[in-house]
Amino acid sequence: MCGVFGAVLPAGSGVEAAQVAALGLFALQHRGQESAGVAVSDGEQLMLYKDLGLISSVLDERRLPSLRGRLAIAHCRYSTTGSTIWENAQPTFRMGPRRAIAVGHNGNLINTRELLASLRGGRARLPASTDTELLTALLADDPSADLIESLQRVLPKVRGAYSLVILDERRVIGVRDPFGFRPLVLGRLPLDASQTREPGFWGDDTDHGWVLSSETAGLDIVGAEYVRDVEPGEIVVLQEGHAPQSIRFAEATPALCVFELIYFARPDSYMEGRNLYEARRKMGVQLALEHPVEADFVMPVPDTGAPAAAGYAESSGLPYREGMVRNRYSGRTFIQPSQAMRQRGVSVKLNPLREVVRGRRLVVVDDSIVRGTTTKQIVALLRKAGAAEVHVRVSAPPIFHPCFYGIDTQIETELIAATHTVPEIRDFIGADSLAYLSIRGVLAALELPYEQFCFACFDGRYPDPVPYDAENHKFLLEEPLPSPSDEPHAVATRG
Ligand code: SF4
Repeated sequence: MCGVFGAVLPAGSGVEAAQVAALGLFALQHRGQESAGVAVSDGEQLMLYKDLGLISSVLDERRLPSLRGRLAIAHCRYSTTGSTIWENAQPTFRMGPRRAIAVGHNGNLINTRELLASLRGGRARLPASTDTELLTALLADDPSADLIESLQRVLPKVRGAYSLVILDERRVIGVRDPFGFRPLVLGRLPLDASQTREPGFWGDDTDHGWVLSSETAGLDIVGAEYVRDVEPGEIVVLQEGHAPQSIRFAEATPALCVFELIYFARPDSYMEGRNLYEARRKMGVQLALEHPVEADFVMPVPDTGAPAAAGYAESSGLPYREGMVRNRYSGRTFIQPSQAMRQRGVSVKLNPLREVVRGRRLVVVDDSIVRGTTTKQIVALLRKAGAAEVHVRVSAPPIFHPCFYGIDTQIETELIAATHTVPEIRDFIGADSLAYLSIRGVLAALELPYEQFCFACFDGRYPDPVPYDAENHKFLLEEPLPSPSDEPHAVATRG
């Protein structure tokens, strides 16, 4: 999972696109905390700055003013292919025989090895070890006269998840894979007050600034109006003085990652017409209907469990309390890149309120259990603080299968539900009871059909056949290439 943002500003806006893009990206920090970067164009030349670290430390007032131009893309990274090293930070940049481009990518490709075989000169030509670097090289190398033609030639060969923002000298281009695994939205910046004219606040489309963002929260922070989602299988071209242009490169077979709605995306974002706070609150309502329990009150695992806990309390009639305080300056536990960091993360991040939990029977609502180690520590902290009973309720189904589309749960043995029954997990985390929301419950909360989403980590029905290569998938471009007899095989297909 990563965050991407793109901006094209009109002439006379008085603002640099890099600043708008960095601000938009700041609303997407939760999507990736390993590195950040921005690429800009002044209409003639591309410039790039990227580094390891959080957005506010990488794109600060020392760096941004030197990045001038009215076109920009920005990216924050959470690695799913390649190590956390400077070279792998994005946007990528490549000067090809016909064009210079920069690319920001959210998602993960599943036929990287096959694509590598089609790159002239092979891996030796890649300065980084990400699937994005490879895709950038393929696009920069393509002999077509224009980048849009190159996209139309290259993208049909690319499989997996990709929501892209691409920058060349004159354009910012948004792309979403045919399944639309990762979100990408188009927004319109308001005209400067002095330019506002009738009819309508938004005036003529050709005068506006345009932005692309992984989530609608990125539009809100820069004051842009949501226009629409970039459709699965669509290319959207943003160019100064032009209305956005839409080009379809593949038929849409939508399979948006349902985990975006359950957990990853911000609660103030909207997806599929649903506000995610409300969607998660309704998941909590369903959870209480499916798995009631006698208790004194309902509390969330802060902050992400809060909407579902509110729904659980509302539906069950139990009071809602805050039973733990979260250090708001620590990152998400799940998103830390190593197990050692994840384990350290929990206790520095969460502290129980002893006066609230002592002697009480608690319903503790969380939005997911991935490896189980975080939940185990939370239950232990609550017991140590004097809780009489701890009943864990999860507003997502058990995660049985790895994700190959951009979430780093790729090793099946890391997933506790893949190797343990629910009673075994309950015992492992030390809870008095444990229950998960069903897939049916998720859909009832969303009031949307199953066919619209990817549920593969819950039910193993992968929308796109996946070459199962768990051993070296993430570090594929850092490992020796296999012999032909080691060909990957598909694990599952949808339907
Ligand atoms: Fe999302 Fe799970 Fe599908 Fe991955 S496998 S895209 S996390 S629903």
